Amino acid sequence: MSTLSEFELIKRYFTYPAPGARLGVGDDAALVRVARGMELAVSTDMLVCGRHFFPDADPGLLGHKALAVNLSDMAAMGATPRWATLSLALPRADARWVRAFAGGFMRLAHRHGVDLIGGDTTRGPLNICVQIMGEIPAGQALRRDGARVGDEIWVSGCLGDAALALAASRKRVGLGRQELARVARRLHKPVPRIALGEALRKIAHSAIDISDGLLADLGHICERSGVAADIEFDMLPVSTILKRHLQQSAARAALLAGGDDYELCFTAAPARRSAILGIARRLGLKLTCIGVARCVARNKPQIAVRARDGRLMRISRSGFDHFG
Ligand code: ADP
Ligand code: MG
Repeated sequence: MSTLSEFELIKRYFTYPAPGARLGVGDDAALVRVARGMELAVSTDMLVCGRHFFPDADPGLLGHKALAVNLSDMAAMGATPRWATLSLALPRADARWVRAFAGGFMRLAHRHGVDLIGGDTTRGPLNICVQIMGEIPAGQALRRDGARVGDEIWVSGCLGDAALALAASRKRVGLGRQELARVARRLHKPVPRIALGEALRKIAHSAIDISDGLLADLGHICERSGVAADIEFDMLPVSTILKRHLQQSAARAALLAGGDDYELCFTAAPARRSAILGIARRLGLKLTCIGVARCVARNKPQIAVRARDGRLMRISRSGFDHFG
């Protein structure tokens, strides 16, 4: 892309007012000010063509998802997202594509009061990298390492629909046309649980967003916190569509080990149960207790999933590992 069209692209599609920043797009760096008593939460997530999305993916949905997965990291920390930067490698300066992408990105940004304050634009194989910054009262971040033995383990929403959509598009599971359309929304248009993360400050001991599957991500909490987990399979929250297909092993794998749901998994003392259910009512979001954190035991798996008959389930796939 010529220098001119690079600048033109930035001016036309990536320059917006940034009321929450001292200086936004257009200088060598943006300037932001963190409010007194707040800490800055910083995270970045990259979407690579062929790896995280198909080359013909809808650009508007892609813009949404690129920001949504980053907002989800803010939610998992209990942070309020404030600023984002966007680095793009584009194979060509296709104005229609860029306009749709920027539209999807900025609609979600506006909804959450996030300012796009900078980035980088270059020619290359399609690659999207977003950095997100948010604020959180000092000391109140929801970390992965805070879970305690005896904590209840909770998840938001329903699990597995996004992975079910992916499995169906790869013909690993049979879904009806309308069923596929409904779960595909979960895959392509994830909803970051920002309000939940904020509400869980001072309530949850630990949290993570489920991007690689429940077992893998809860495993990170266990690892970092030095605890293990007992999960009840029957308690896992599923959509009516996933429930209908639970006899297919690909659907069970989607539920336990499928990524891309971007729900939150968190732990809290049993005494906080009514506060948590109050948050669920206030937000209109299902929150489900799926098990408890226990001591690490040498003769038991880190995460033991119990079936209705009380027996431990054999787990074949534990999450999606990009280098596996
Ligand atoms: P530099 O030469 O300092 O890297 P650039 O010419 O790459 O500056 O970018 C000019 C301005 O546009 C900078 O403020 C940069 O942050 C911003 N910018 C570049 N690409 C994007 C993008 N895709 N989204 C938002 N801002 C961008
Ligand atoms: Mg640059």
